[in-house]
Amino acid sequence: MAREAIFGPNDSRTNESRESTAANKLGLLTPDEERVLRPQRMFEMVGQRDVYERIEVAIEASRKRGEPLGHVLFDGPPGLGKTTFALCIPRELGVSVQIGNGATLRAPKDLVPYLTNAEEGSVLFIDEIHRMHKSVEEFLYPAMEDFRIDLTLGEGVNARTLNIQLKPFTLIGATTRTGLISAPLRDRFQMREHLDFYTVDELSTIVRRSAGKLGAEIIDDAADEIASRSRSTPRLANNRLRWVRDYSDARADGRITLEVAQKALDMAGIDVIGLDAQDRKYLDTILRVFQGGPVGVEAVAHTMNVAPDTFIDEVEPFLLRSELIVRTPRGRILTGKGVRHLGYDPVQFPQCSQNHLF
Ligand code: ADP
Repeated sequence: MAREAIFGPNDSRTNESRESTAANKLGLLTPDEERVLRPQRMFEMVGQRDVYERIEVAIEASRKRGEPLGHVLFDGPPGLGKTTFALCIPRELGVSVQIGNGATLRAPKDLVPYLTNAEEGSVLFIDEIHRMHKSVEEFLYPAMEDFRIDLTLGEGVNARTLNIQLKPFTLIGATTRTGLISAPLRDRFQMREHLDFYTVDELSTIVRRSAGKLGAEIIDDAADEIASRSRSTPRLANNRLRWVRDYSDARADGRITLEVAQKALDMAGIDVIGLDAQDRKYLDTILRVFQGGPVGVEAVAHTMNVAPDTFIDEVEPFLLRSELIVRTPRGRILTGKGVRHLGYDPVQFPQCSQNHLF
Protein backbone atom coordinates (compact mmCIF):
# COMPACT_ATOMS: atom_id res chain seq x y z
CA MET A 1 0.00 0.00 0.00
CA ALA A 2 1.57 3.26 -1.06
CA ARG A 3 1.76 5.85 1.67
CA GLU A 4 2.35 9.39 0.76
CA ALA A 5 2.95 12.21 3.16
CA ILE A 6 4.30 15.26 1.47
CA PHE A 7 5.39 17.79 4.01
CA GLY A 8 8.40 19.65 5.12
CA PRO A 9 9.30 22.00 7.95
CA ASN A 10 9.85 25.57 6.78
CA ASP A 11 9.01 24.42 3.31
CA SER A 12 9.01 27.60 1.34
CA ARG A 13 9.38 25.88 -1.97
CA THR A 14 7.77 28.07 -4.57
CA ASN A 15 7.89 28.21 -8.30
CA GLU A 16 9.10 31.78 -8.25
CA SER A 17 12.75 31.18 -8.96
CA ARG A 18 11.90 28.63 -11.59
CA GLU A 19 9.18 30.61 -13.31
CA SER A 20 10.78 33.95 -13.57
CA THR A 21 11.14 34.42 -17.30
CA ALA A 22 8.33 35.98 -19.25
CA ALA A 23 7.88 32.82 -21.32
CA ASN A 24 7.48 30.70 -18.25
CA LYS A 25 4.92 33.07 -16.82
CA LEU A 26 2.91 32.91 -19.98
CA GLY A 27 0.11 30.43 -19.62
CA LEU A 28 1.35 29.67 -16.13
CA LEU A 29 -0.43 26.61 -14.83
CA THR A 30 -2.49 26.80 -11.67
CA PRO A 31 -1.30 24.46 -8.89
CA ASP A 32 -4.28 22.20 -9.68
CA GLU A 33 -3.40 22.00 -13.37
CA GLU A 34 0.24 21.43 -12.51
CA ARG A 35 -0.82 18.49 -10.32
CA VAL A 36 -3.03 17.07 -13.06
CA LEU A 37 -0.33 17.32 -15.71
CA ARG A 38 2.64 16.05 -13.73
CA PRO A 39 3.09 12.30 -14.26
CA GLN A 40 2.33 10.48 -11.02
CA ARG A 41 4.04 7.22 -11.90
CA MET A 42 7.25 6.55 -13.79
CA PHE A 43 5.53 4.70 -16.64
CA GLU A 44 3.65 7.92 -17.47
CA MET A 45 6.91 9.79 -18.02
CA VAL A 46 7.92 10.49 -21.60
CA GLY A 47 11.55 10.45 -22.82
CA GLN A 48 14.76 10.28 -20.70
CA ARG A 49 14.78 6.54 -21.40
CA ASP A 50 18.36 5.88 -20.21
CA VAL A 51 17.77 7.61 -16.91
CA TYR A 52 14.39 5.93 -16.58
CA GLU A 53 15.82 2.46 -17.06
CA ARG A 54 18.69 2.94 -14.62
CA ILE A 55 16.29 4.23 -11.97
CA GLU A 56 13.95 1.31 -12.63
CA VAL A 57 16.78 -1.19 -12.10
CA ALA A 58 17.86 0.53 -8.88
CA ILE A 59 14.28 0.56 -7.55
CA GLU A 60 13.78 -3.09 -8.41
CA ALA A 61 17.04 -4.07 -6.73
CA SER A 62 16.29 -2.09 -3.59
CA ARG A 63 12.84 -3.64 -3.38
CA LYS A 64 14.22 -7.16 -3.77
CA ARG A 65 16.90 -6.61 -1.14
CA GLY A 66 14.54 -4.76 1.18
CA GLU A 67 17.08 -1.95 1.49
CA PRO A 68 16.55 1.76 0.94
CA LEU A 69 17.36 3.05 -2.53
CA GLY A 70 20.81 4.67 -2.78
CA HIS A 71 20.93 8.47 -2.80
CA VAL A 72 20.15 10.01 -6.20
CA LEU A 73 21.24 13.38 -7.64
CA PHE A 74 19.40 14.84 -10.65
CA ASP A 75 20.85 17.70 -12.57
CA GLY A 76 19.79 19.62 -15.65
CA PRO A 77 18.07 22.83 -16.72
CA PRO A 78 14.72 23.79 -15.14
CA GLY A 79 11.51 22.12 -16.27
CA LEU A 80 13.03 18.87 -17.57
CA GLY A 81 11.56 16.51 -15.00
CA LYS A 82 13.86 16.45 -11.96
CA THR A 83 11.01 17.02 -9.51
CA THR A 84 8.77 14.65 -11.44
CA PHE A 85 11.32 11.83 -11.13
CA ALA A 86 11.94 12.70 -7.48
CA LEU A 87 8.22 12.46 -6.65
CA CYS A 88 7.56 9.36 -8.76
CA ILE A 89 10.35 7.35 -7.12
CA PRO A 90 8.77 7.22 -3.62
CA ARG A 91 5.44 6.24 -5.20
CA GLU A 92 7.15 3.36 -6.97
CA LEU A 93 8.76 2.35 -3.69
CA GLY A 94 5.54 2.85 -1.71
CA VAL A 95 7.26 5.11 0.84
CA SER A 96 6.64 8.58 2.21
CA VAL A 97 8.44 11.67 0.95
CA GLN A 98 9.46 14.98 2.52
CA ILE A 99 10.26 17.95 0.32
CA GLY A 100 12.79 20.65 1.17
CA ASN A 101 14.63 23.36 -0.70
CA GLY A 102 18.34 24.10 -0.46
CA ALA A 103 17.65 27.83 -0.35
CA THR A 104 15.90 27.50 3.03
CA LEU A 105 18.58 25.26 4.58
CA ARG A 106 20.85 27.92 6.03
CA ALA A 107 22.03 26.16 9.18
CA PRO A 108 22.15 22.51 10.34
CA LYS A 109 19.16 23.11 12.62
CA ASP A 110 17.03 23.72 9.51
CA LEU A 111 17.79 20.19 8.33
CA VAL A 112 17.39 18.36 11.66
CA PRO A 113 13.56 18.02 11.55
CA TYR A 114 13.68 16.52 8.07
CA LEU A 115 16.25 13.95 9.13
CA THR A 116 14.66 12.98 12.42
CA ASN A 117 11.20 12.79 10.79
CA ALA A 118 12.44 10.53 8.00
CA GLU A 119 10.72 7.15 8.20
CA GLU A 120 12.54 3.91 7.42
CA GLY A 121 13.20 3.71 3.67
CA SER A 122 11.51 7.06 3.01
CA VAL A 123 12.66 9.72 0.58
CA LEU A 124 13.93 13.18 1.44
CA PHE A 125 13.85 15.35 -1.68
CA ILE A 126 15.95 18.52 -1.59
CA ASP A 127 15.37 20.75 -4.58
CA GLU A 128 18.02 23.35 -5.52
CA ILE A 129 20.45 21.42 -3.36
CA HIS A 130 23.34 23.60 -4.58
CA ARG A 131 21.87 26.46 -2.55
CA MET A 132 22.29 24.69 0.78
CA HIS A 133 24.70 26.42 3.17
CA LYS A 134 28.14 24.81 3.42
CA SER A 135 27.59 24.03 7.14
CA VAL A 136 24.39 22.15 6.25
CA GLU A 137 26.21 20.23 3.56
CA GLU A 138 28.88 19.07 6.02
CA PHE A 139 26.21 18.17 8.55
CA LEU A 140 24.55 16.02 5.89
CA TYR A 141 27.62 13.86 5.16
CA PRO A 142 27.33 11.46 8.16
CA ALA A 143 23.55 11.38 7.65
CA MET A 144 24.05 10.22 4.07
CA GLU A 145 26.84 7.79 4.86
CA ASP A 146 25.98 6.29 8.24
CA PHE A 147 22.43 7.56 8.88
CA ARG A 148 23.76 9.43 11.90
CA ILE A 149 23.91 13.06 12.94
CA ASP A 150 26.13 14.72 15.52
CA LEU A 151 24.45 17.60 17.33
CA THR A 152 26.37 19.98 19.55
CA LEU A 153 24.28 21.24 22.44
CA GLY A 154 25.23 24.19 24.62
CA GLU A 155 28.36 26.29 24.38
CA GLY A 156 31.86 26.50 25.83
CA VAL A 157 32.57 24.18 28.78
CA ASN A 158 28.93 23.09 28.86
CA ALA A 159 28.93 21.97 25.26
CA ARG A 160 28.28 18.32 24.61
CA THR A 161 27.77 16.27 21.52
CA LEU A 162 24.71 14.17 20.96
CA ASN A 163 24.85 11.40 18.38
CA ILE A 164 21.48 10.59 16.92
CA GLN A 165 20.92 7.44 14.89
CA LEU A 166 18.54 8.02 11.97
CA LYS A 167 16.32 5.58 10.13
CA PRO A 168 17.87 4.60 6.80
CA PHE A 169 16.46 6.93 4.14
CA THR A 170 17.08 7.98 0.55
CA LEU A 171 18.19 11.49 -0.27
CA ILE A 172 17.17 12.76 -3.70
CA GLY A 173 18.83 16.02 -4.67
CA ALA A 174 18.01 18.18 -7.67
CA THR A 175 20.12 20.97 -9.08
CA THR A 176 20.33 23.16 -12.13
CA ARG A 177 24.06 23.63 -11.41
CA THR A 178 26.18 20.56 -10.92
CA GLY A 179 29.19 22.84 -11.11
CA LEU A 180 28.20 24.32 -7.75
CA ILE A 181 27.96 20.97 -5.99
CA SER A 182 31.14 20.22 -4.07
CA ALA A 183 32.96 16.98 -4.93
CA PRO A 184 32.48 15.47 -1.42
CA LEU A 185 28.71 15.97 -1.66
CA ARG A 186 28.51 14.73 -5.24
CA ASP A 187 30.51 11.61 -4.37
CA ARG A 188 28.04 10.65 -1.65
CA PHE A 189 25.26 10.11 -4.19
CA GLN A 190 25.22 6.52 -5.48
CA MET A 191 23.43 7.64 -8.66
CA ARG A 192 24.01 10.87 -10.52
CA GLU A 193 21.64 11.43 -13.41
CA HIS A 194 21.74 14.24 -15.93
CA LEU A 195 18.44 15.15 -17.61
CA ASP A 196 18.77 16.35 -21.15
CA PHE A 197 16.51 18.40 -23.41
CA TYR A 198 13.58 16.61 -25.06
CA THR A 199 13.02 15.93 -28.75
CA VAL A 200 10.10 17.53 -30.57
CA ASP A 201 8.44 14.10 -30.85
CA GLU A 202 8.65 13.53 -27.12
CA LEU A 203 7.28 16.99 -26.37
CA SER A 204 4.51 16.49 -28.88
CA THR A 205 3.46 13.33 -27.03
CA ILE A 206 3.50 15.29 -23.76
CA VAL A 207 1.41 18.10 -25.31
CA ARG A 208 -1.18 15.65 -26.66
CA ARG A 209 -1.44 13.86 -23.32
CA SER A 210 -1.65 17.13 -21.42
CA ALA A 211 -4.37 18.40 -23.76
CA GLY A 212 -6.30 15.19 -23.04
CA LYS A 213 -5.91 15.66 -19.28
CA LEU A 214 -7.11 19.27 -19.57
CA GLY A 215 -10.04 18.17 -21.71
CA ALA A 216 -8.86 20.15 -24.76
CA GLU A 217 -9.21 18.92 -28.32
CA ILE A 218 -5.96 19.24 -30.26
CA ILE A 219 -4.91 18.40 -33.83
CA ASP A 220 -1.56 16.53 -34.17
CA ASP A 221 0.00 19.32 -36.27
CA ALA A 222 -0.84 21.82 -33.55
CA ALA A 223 0.78 19.62 -30.90
CA ASP A 224 3.92 19.41 -33.07
CA GLU A 225 3.91 23.20 -33.47
CA ILE A 226 3.66 23.80 -29.72
CA ALA A 227 6.35 21.17 -29.12
CA SER A 228 8.78 22.76 -31.55
CA ARG A 229 8.25 26.17 -29.96
CA SER A 230 8.85 25.05 -26.38
CA ARG A 231 12.64 25.25 -26.07
CA SER A 232 12.84 21.45 -25.74
CA THR A 233 11.36 21.66 -22.22
CA PRO A 234 8.21 19.85 -20.97
CA ARG A 235 7.30 22.60 -18.51
CA LEU A 236 7.31 25.19 -21.29
CA ALA A 237 5.40 22.84 -23.60
CA ASN A 238 2.65 22.59 -20.96
CA ASN A 239 2.67 26.34 -20.33
CA ARG A 240 2.45 27.10 -24.03
CA LEU A 241 -0.36 24.58 -24.43
CA ARG A 242 -2.23 26.32 -21.63
CA TRP A 243 -1.89 29.66 -23.41
CA VAL A 244 -2.91 28.21 -26.77
CA ARG A 245 -5.96 26.66 -25.15
CA ASP A 246 -6.94 30.02 -23.62
CA TYR A 247 -6.54 31.61 -27.04
CA SER A 248 -8.58 28.92 -28.78
CA ASP A 249 -11.39 29.28 -26.24
CA ALA A 250 -11.38 33.07 -26.54
CA ARG A 251 -10.75 33.58 -30.23
CA ALA A 252 -11.72 30.31 -31.94
CA ASP A 253 -14.15 27.46 -31.39
CA GLY A 254 -12.08 25.78 -28.67
CA ARG A 255 -10.48 23.25 -31.03
CA ILE A 256 -6.70 23.63 -31.15
CA THR A 257 -5.76 23.60 -34.82
CA LEU A 258 -2.37 24.41 -36.33
CA GLU A 259 -3.57 27.87 -37.29
CA VAL A 260 -4.87 28.58 -33.80
CA ALA A 261 -1.60 27.38 -32.23
CA GLN A 262 0.49 29.53 -34.57
CA LYS A 263 -1.60 32.63 -34.02
CA ALA A 264 -1.58 32.19 -30.25
CA LEU A 265 2.19 31.66 -30.06
CA ASP A 266 2.87 34.55 -32.46
CA MET A 267 0.70 36.80 -30.33
CA ALA A 268 2.73 35.81 -27.25
CA GLY A 269 5.98 36.66 -29.03
CA ILE A 270 7.21 33.06 -29.10
CA ASP A 271 9.31 32.62 -32.23
CA VAL A 272 9.73 29.55 -34.43
CA ILE A 273 12.38 27.94 -32.23
CA GLY A 274 10.54 28.85 -29.04
CA LEU A 275 12.49 31.91 -27.91
CA ASP A 276 10.48 34.60 -26.17
CA ALA A 277 11.06 38.35 -26.12
CA GLN A 278 13.47 38.14 -23.20
CA ASP A 279 15.59 35.44 -24.84
CA ARG A 280 15.86 37.52 -28.01
CA LYS A 281 16.64 40.65 -26.02
CA TYR A 282 19.49 38.78 -24.33
CA LEU A 283 20.94 37.89 -27.75
CA ASP A 284 20.31 41.40 -29.05
CA THR A 285 22.04 42.99 -26.04
CA ILE A 286 25.16 40.90 -26.64
CA LEU A 287 25.12 41.90 -30.30
CA ARG A 288 24.39 45.61 -30.07
CA VAL A 289 25.71 46.66 -26.67
CA PHE A 290 28.69 44.32 -26.48
CA GLN A 291 29.48 43.98 -30.19
CA GLY A 292 28.78 40.26 -30.15
CA GLY A 293 30.98 39.54 -27.10
CA PRO A 294 32.87 38.09 -25.43
CA VAL A 295 30.94 39.43 -22.48
CA GLY A 296 30.30 38.20 -18.95
CA VAL A 297 26.74 37.13 -18.20
CA GLU A 298 26.66 39.57 -15.27
CA ALA A 299 27.25 42.51 -17.60
CA VAL A 300 24.40 41.44 -19.89
CA ALA A 301 22.15 40.80 -16.90
CA HIS A 302 22.88 44.18 -15.33
CA THR A 303 22.30 45.96 -18.63
CA MET A 304 18.91 44.28 -18.92
CA ASN A 305 18.14 44.65 -15.21
CA VAL A 306 17.57 40.91 -14.76
CA ALA A 307 19.17 38.62 -12.15
CA PRO A 308 22.19 36.82 -13.67
CA ASP A 309 20.90 33.50 -12.27
CA THR A 310 17.81 33.78 -14.46
CA PHE A 311 20.02 33.81 -17.52
CA ILE A 312 22.41 31.16 -16.28
CA ASP A 313 19.65 28.74 -15.23
CA GLU A 314 16.80 29.37 -17.59
CA VAL A 315 17.92 31.17 -20.72
CA GLU A 316 21.46 30.17 -21.59
CA PRO A 317 21.26 26.35 -21.51
CA PHE A 318 18.94 26.26 -24.52
CA LEU A 319 20.82 29.02 -26.37
CA LEU A 320 24.10 27.13 -25.86
CA ARG A 321 22.57 23.88 -26.99
CA SER A 322 21.12 25.56 -30.08
CA GLU A 323 24.57 27.06 -30.78
CA LEU A 324 23.20 30.60 -30.81
CA ILE A 325 25.87 31.52 -28.26
CA VAL A 326 29.08 29.90 -27.12
CA ARG A 327 30.70 30.13 -23.71
CA THR A 328 34.42 30.89 -23.57
CA PRO A 329 36.75 31.65 -20.64
CA ARG A 330 36.43 35.32 -21.63
CA GLY A 331 32.62 35.32 -21.68
CA ARG A 332 29.64 34.65 -23.89
CA ILE A 333 29.93 35.14 -27.65
CA LEU A 334 27.08 35.35 -30.13
CA THR A 335 27.58 32.94 -33.04
CA GLY A 336 26.85 33.62 -36.69
CA LYS A 337 23.77 31.47 -36.24
CA GLY A 338 22.71 33.72 -33.36
CA VAL A 339 23.17 36.84 -35.51
CA ARG A 340 21.13 35.29 -38.27
CA HIS A 341 18.38 34.34 -35.84
CA LEU A 342 18.04 38.01 -34.93
CA GLY A 343 17.48 38.73 -38.60
CA TYR A 344 20.88 40.24 -39.44
CA ASP A 345 23.43 39.16 -41.99
CA PRO A 346 26.40 37.55 -40.17
CA VAL A 347 28.73 39.14 -42.74
CA GLN A 348 27.96 42.50 -41.12
CA PHE A 349 29.25 41.15 -37.83
CA PRO A 350 32.52 39.43 -38.70
CA GLN A 351 33.50 39.08 -35.05
CA CYS A 352 30.49 36.76 -34.61
CA SER A 353 30.64 34.85 -37.86
CA GLN A 354 34.32 34.10 -37.24
CA ASN A 355 33.29 32.72 -33.93
CA HIS A 356 31.54 29.73 -35.35
CA LEU A 357 28.89 27.93 -36.89
CA PHE A 358 26.16 29.34 -38.93
P1 ADP B 1 12.28 20.32 -12.89
O1 ADP B 1 12.13 19.78 -11.49
O2 ADP B 1 13.40 19.68 -13.64
O3 ADP B 1 12.36 21.82 -12.93
P2 ADP B 1 9.62 19.28 -13.26
O4 ADP B 1 9.80 17.86 -12.87
O5 ADP B 1 8.96 20.19 -12.26
O6 ADP B 1 11.00 19.92 -13.73
O7 ADP B 1 8.81 19.28 -14.64
C1 ADP B 1 8.00 20.36 -15.03
C2 ADP B 1 6.70 19.84 -15.62
O8 ADP B 1 6.96 19.24 -16.88
C3 ADP B 1 6.03 18.76 -14.78
O9 ADP B 1 5.06 19.30 -13.93
C4 ADP B 1 5.41 17.84 -15.79
O10 ADP B 1 4.08 18.27 -16.06
C5 ADP B 1 6.23 18.04 -17.03
N1 ADP B 1 7.20 16.94 -17.25
C6 ADP B 1 8.49 16.92 -16.88
N2 ADP B 1 9.09 15.79 -17.26
C7 ADP B 1 8.16 15.06 -17.89
C8 ADP B 1 8.16 13.79 -18.55
N3 ADP B 1 9.28 13.06 -18.62
N4 ADP B 1 7.02 13.35 -19.10
C9 ADP B 1 5.89 14.11 -19.06
N5 ADP B 1 5.83 15.32 -18.46
C10 ADP B 1 6.93 15.80 -17.89
